[in-house]
Amino acid sequence: MKVKAAVLEEFGRPLAVQDVELAEPQAGEALVRLEACGVCHTDLYTASGADPTGYTDCVLGHEGAGLVEAVGPGVTLVAPGDHVVTLFAPECGKCLHCLDPRTNRCVAIRDQQGVGFLPDGTTRFARENGEPLRHFMGTSTFAGYTVMPEIALAKVSPEAPLAACAPFACGLSTGIGAALFTAQVAPGSTCVVFGCGLVGLGAVIGCRLAGADRVIAIDLSESRLDEARRHGATDTRLASDETVDWIRGETGGFGADYTFEATGNVRVMQQAVESAREAWGLATMIGVAGKGETLDVVPRLLITGRRVTGSSFGGVKGRTQVPQLVDRWLAGEFNAEALVTNTIPLESVNDAFDAMERQDGIRTVITSFL
Ligand SMILES: [Zn+2]
Ligand SMILES: [Zn+2]
Repeated sequence: MKVKAAVLEEFGRPLAVQDVELAEPQAGEALVRLEACGVCHTDLYTASGADPTGYTDCVLGHEGAGLVEAVGPGVTLVAPGDHVVTLFAPECGKCLHCLDPRTNRCVAIRDQQGVGFLPDGTTRFARENGEPLRHFMGTSTFAGYTVMPEIALAKVSPEAPLAACAPFACGLSTGIGAALFTAQVAPGSTCVVFGCGLVGLGAVIGCRLAGADRVIAIDLSESRLDEARRHGATDTRLASDETVDWIRGETGGFGADYTFEATGNVRVMQQAVESAREAWGLATMIGVAGKGETLDVVPRLLITGRRVTGSSFGGVKGRTQVPQLVDRWLAGEFNAEALVTNTIPLESVNDAFDAMERQDGIRTVITSFL
């Protein structure tokens, strides 16, 4: 079938929105009609050429929500008509990591996914002349339709508006999961979240859902701190070189029980480690640092009991836990709609990249793919 898609043809150049061919789903795969797709920093990072693992030509996009249209042979996990959130982190349910409650790092299809193929080593996307186009993060959701492995689709409530389901496919689940599943924030705790984009706001929400007493949000932008308060931050503070001292001052000199880094800046990561509490403070890294960058930690901080961890997709086991998070949103425990600050047609995807570089809004979601 012919579908409209945003193709990364050359690093550092705008995506080319065009008609491409999409083949039928094969064994274990489903055809998904996208209703919504968030534009995430990782798409921009790859398009810029800064990601050392990036490749061209491929159909970008990984924060999708839509409906299953058709399934290939042997598919049992989803059926036509199901509402689904796409998962760049699949959950096969059978591999050594899926069977362990400590992680979401499913290993079932990662090798082929990492180089742009479906699990059988081929692609379903092609140019109109038949030249294959690779997939991106196993999702390729900057397109009217995509084909994905069934293990990479989370079936969510049909009651949930799909535009606000899209952020659950990446940024929102990453933030909430970092608090609930990676750090496992204990009730009554003091938490600090560095960076109040979608991921950081997700962490603010996660800390609040976990029953934290204080959720301190740090950002360079007053308007983002306003957003953080709206989603449950109890204290906000403009970021500066004095942030660590200020946090220690607010916590009896000790530091916070849990800190979260959601900017990807290694200097901020260092602040997150230094402002974690002596004796048991846990600093969780969520932001993605640039190529070759390293995190400097003074070993004494660790000897005196601070711990450093991190997670990808918030440690969320996608097929099991994304539907649960969506249900908590529908139950009114947090407001996912408010995080979608702009909706655009697929044709305007490059404008969304520009808006992201200006830090304009929280999340832009593509809602029309014609
Ligand atoms: Zn993302
Ligand atoms: Zn697995």
